[in-house]
Amino acid sequence: MRGKYVNVIVDIAHEKVDRPFQYRIPPSLQGSIEEGMAVTIPFGKGNKEIAGYVVEVTDRAEYAEDKLKEITGIRTGDMPVEADSIRLAGWMKRQYGSTMINALKTVLPVRQKKKQVEKRTVSLVLEEDAAKKQLALYEKKHQTARARMLAELIAQKELPYELITGKLHITAATIRTLCEAGICTVHSEVLYRNPVKLEHRETERKKLSDRQREIVECIAEDLKQEKPGVHLIHGITGSGKTEVYLTLIEQVIAGGKQAIVLIPEIALTYQTLIRFFNRFPGRVSVMNSRLSDGEKYDQFERAKAGEIDVMIGPRSALFTPFTRLGLIVIDEEHENSYKSESMPKYHARETAIQIAAFQGAGVVLGSATPSIESYYRAKNGAYRLYEMTERLTGGFLPKTYIVDLRQELKEGNRSIFSRKLSLLLEDRLSRGEQSILFLNRRGYAGFISCRSCGHVMKCPHCDVSLSEHRGGRLVCHYCGFEQPVVKRCPVCGSKYILGFRAGTEQIEEQVKKIYPRARVLRMDADTTRGREGYENILSAFANKEADILIGTQMIVKGHDFPDVTLVGILAADLSLAAGDYRAAERTFELLTQAAGRAGRGEKPGEVVIQTYQPEHYSVQYAAEHDYKGFYEEEILFREMMQYPPAAHMLAVQIMAVSEEAGEAMAKKFAEALKQKQELRVIGPAPASIGKVNDIYRFVIYIKHKDYEKLVEVKDFLEEFLNRMENRKETAYFDFDPVNPY
Ligand code: ADP
Ligand code: ZN
Ligand code: ZN
Repeated sequence: MRGKYVNVIVDIAHEKVDRPFQYRIPPSLQGSIEEGMAVTIPFGKGNKEIAGYVVEVTDRAEYAEDKLKEITGIRTGDMPVEADSIRLAGWMKRQYGSTMINALKTVLPVRQKKKQVEKRTVSLVLEEDAAKKQLALYEKKHQTARARMLAELIAQKELPYELITGKLHITAATIRTLCEAGICTVHSEVLYRNPVKLEHRETERKKLSDRQREIVECIAEDLKQEKPGVHLIHGITGSGKTEVYLTLIEQVIAGGKQAIVLIPEIALTYQTLIRFFNRFPGRVSVMNSRLSDGEKYDQFERAKAGEIDVMIGPRSALFTPFTRLGLIVIDEEHENSYKSESMPKYHARETAIQIAAFQGAGVVLGSATPSIESYYRAKNGAYRLYEMTERLTGGFLPKTYIVDLRQELKEGNRSIFSRKLSLLLEDRLSRGEQSILFLNRRGYAGFISCRSCGHVMKCPHCDVSLSEHRGGRLVCHYCGFEQPVVKRCPVCGSKYILGFRAGTEQIEEQVKKIYPRARVLRMDADTTRGREGYENILSAFANKEADILIGTQMIVKGHDFPDVTLVGILAADLSLAAGDYRAAERTFELLTQAAGRAGRGEKPGEVVIQTYQPEHYSVQYAAEHDYKGFYEEEILFREMMQYPPAAHMLAVQIMAVSEEAGEAMAKKFAEALKQKQELRVIGPAPASIGKVNDIYRFVIYIKHKDYEKLVEVKDFLEEFLNRMENRKETAYFDFDPVNPY
């Protein structure tokens, strides 16, 4: 017996009840309640029966015995929360600021037990001779059903249960009779829903290159330690990172352990999966947003039962309940999708490192363009860094041209295509080679720039782009600075200062007008409804059913089209003006990825980068394929402005039903925080989407070198809110946000 009382978290996602409530364990349940169980409890004045999770079993009563209510019972339909998950949820709540129940829901992606599918098989136990004698006996007695079943069993030795009751029209009673007579047996096994329907193919094992082997040996050595560390592999696309992951996982499995591989959902393609399935046949499962709850449940059950060794998937695969976790791999670790956009707003990288620390596992991060955060930590020795600089399959880095769009305008070209790009496009069309036109629209939020000189209207305090709002105002989304829209460029006086409005559709129209015979495919949110659409377009292009593929960032993520020899990047600066401090990083990333699409096969590739800011360092370094150069320059900016990773940043979002109340609350917060020393408080400012569903949103940013200080700020503000009577406003927290508010 472990205790008489339990502390229970109730299943209501509201911060007012986000603390454990204590209950008594009734005598009938003494000894059978454990931490992590789902229970039913009477709650509130009306003693309504609700669900809750046991977070602690204890002997210490916090209230008088007779004040405590008793729990009603154990909920058998819910999966118990493992103690590890509670610990992890506790960490997430503290680290990211959310309710305990939301944290629990995150670490337990499937909470309801799903009915399992069973497969029953009937097999013959008698020797063939004896069985034949028995068959003759049944026939003599005209026991036709028994005879029919036995004859079939003699022929097949084993039959699916459903086939006997179905196709052979034999009742369950008859099957039972034969079993009782010792003629056959029924055995059943749980049949997991398996979302992966791939044929295993033997593939030739590649001999690792010297560099790959060095890296594998180094990491494998570290994985033997009690507390393995974090390893960052910076390797250009095609340098053999995936092969390194596969080899490491092989060794992890050989050591009796298991591995989780995170891949952004958009890059979770057939080609990637097949490499893992062929290497570990039958031992791999996959998580993704298209699986049904039943399928997800089964994948987690298979993992818990030790029936698989590798789980691949986006963010949520992190919470796979392996009992012997040895390694977590995060591919494309720079991807924004690793940051959750709902509460708790956790980052999969940080959370993976925490999970690995709890379980004594190692972490491997990989990217062609590591996040500035990870590279910074690697340079400071917190992670170990490995560089892979050569493509293993040959092929050359493409030749890159930067085209100055200001010059094009000056010389009378107002088309979306520069003269250089038009020339190369025509050349490819005449040679029957494929081209990609990439419209960089990421983070595009109504910024204003000058077509003559490239000047972008920026906040004088935050050095990020101002966004155009209705009513002719330009607003900074960090500090709230605003000014009227300008009619003339403050730098060169040109009147061509305006927002950029071209979309993929307009580009498609233009292409069709100029090259009427070109076969064109367009990929954007409109043409890719559902996953199918997306893959259909990609495979059509891979099958050379089109000459030109037009699209947004969706087309530049890790797809291999060997016949593409030209990539045109239209308006590279759009992502530069995204209005947040990571704009340059994302631009560099996207340009590098887009450029990487050209010349993957035998023929060399060319890339045209069209931009109004040809001198910008992100454009320059991307054209030179120089990540380190970019990093060195970018980190200076981060340090000067105290943006992450030089410091940490907490976004506090305030929601209110009226604009006045929201603004008042935001100001109160900001003032309270400005009293505290060492904090850099920015704002409050109205959020970029200032009102959603009639809820007004304001935002405050707080910067500090020390993450813990920001956790204290969060705790302080939560206290502050909880002390207020009858408030209608709420606040949400986002640590080191990846998108501006
Ligand atoms: P990355 O993950 O860095 O893009 P991959 O591991 O996918 O790199 O490797 C790129 C290509 O090179 C793949 O086609 C892969 O099969 C091949 N490759 C990887 N390692 C080797 C090797 N040691 N020898 C030959 N080919 C290799
Ligand atoms: Zn200008
Ligand atoms: Zn500002």
